[in-house]
Amino acid sequence: MNDTPILHVDNLVTAFDTEQGLIRAVDGVSFDVRAGRTLGIVGESGCGKSVTALSIMRLLPKPHGHIEHGRIMFHDQDIATLPADRMHAIRGYGIAMIFQEPMTALNPVHKIDRQLGEVFELHFPEMDNARIREKSVALLKEVGISEARERMNAYPHQLSGGMRQRVMIAMALAGEPEILIADEPTTALDVTIQAQILDLMVKLQQKTGMAIIFITHALGVIAELCDDVLVMYAGTVAERAPVKTLFQHPRHPYTLGLLSAIPRLDNTPKTRLNTIRGMVPSLYELPDGCRFQNRCPYAMAGCSIAPPPLRQIDDNHWVSCYLYR
Ligand code: SF4
Repeated sequence: MNDTPILHVDNLVTAFDTEQGLIRAVDGVSFDVRAGRTLGIVGESGCGKSVTALSIMRLLPKPHGHIEHGRIMFHDQDIATLPADRMHAIRGYGIAMIFQEPMTALNPVHKIDRQLGEVFELHFPEMDNARIREKSVALLKEVGISEARERMNAYPHQLSGGMRQRVMIAMALAGEPEILIADEPTTALDVTIQAQILDLMVKLQQKTGMAIIFITHALGVIAELCDDVLVMYAGTVAERAPVKTLFQHPRHPYTLGLLSAIPRLDNTPKTRLNTIRGMVPSLYELPDGCRFQNRCPYAMAGCSIAPPPLRQIDDNHWVSCYLYR
């Protein structure tokens, strides 16, 4: 497999102008994505994982959100500075995204055939209507929708949550993207449907060789699905490593806290789960130095002076913490 990254995010800073002032929801984030591999981005709500995804897609809410600094190299093009019309061509065709709530992407007043057909028309203008219909039915079957031909005539509200999510995956795959970004795509579904959707994504990846960026707050999903992991905290990268390394040799105190908070079958019944004490700092009132210091059991005097840089401590293993100098 070609080891050259197809996406290289370098020191990304994404800011929002708000009534209370400028906030940097993503501040100095860097990572690579390789074909056929899945990168998991994990962290608590508001840590910047979804804003990172929206920055890559150039779908930040306008006029308040903007990329302030950094590069997002998709092959040899910098998405961060690409003119809107050229970005339009990459979206869906090069990089596609699925969201937690399919209704954000599906139009409630149009039937599935029209919505799926529009994606094909956009990416393959040479396709005639008969071919589009044939491709749409085949894609719905591929994502596990039974009676696909009949479902083409359904409105989104006539489908179950799991089926809507499958339709959204089909729409994302219609442009045959090289990278699929999945932002908490199974959170709103019950556990058996969640497992089916995750299984579907793995199978589609094996078939197409696409890369996946999987955004979640659940480390269990990361362990099952991902090759590499980026742990984010308050807009920054806490740790980055191959999945096995992260679970076997976690280094950042925040990662250690996340791992110890996972419920285990061998825990004594009715004992309290471990939690990470304290709260994530507000992006309006970030402390000087390490952003995890108010919750960190290992915090030292120097931790509040300057933010710890992201350092490589082993092969492909990077940590932002003064414990590893
Ligand atoms: Fe804890 Fe200091 Fe490391 Fe931050 S830099 S995680 S406060 S030890």
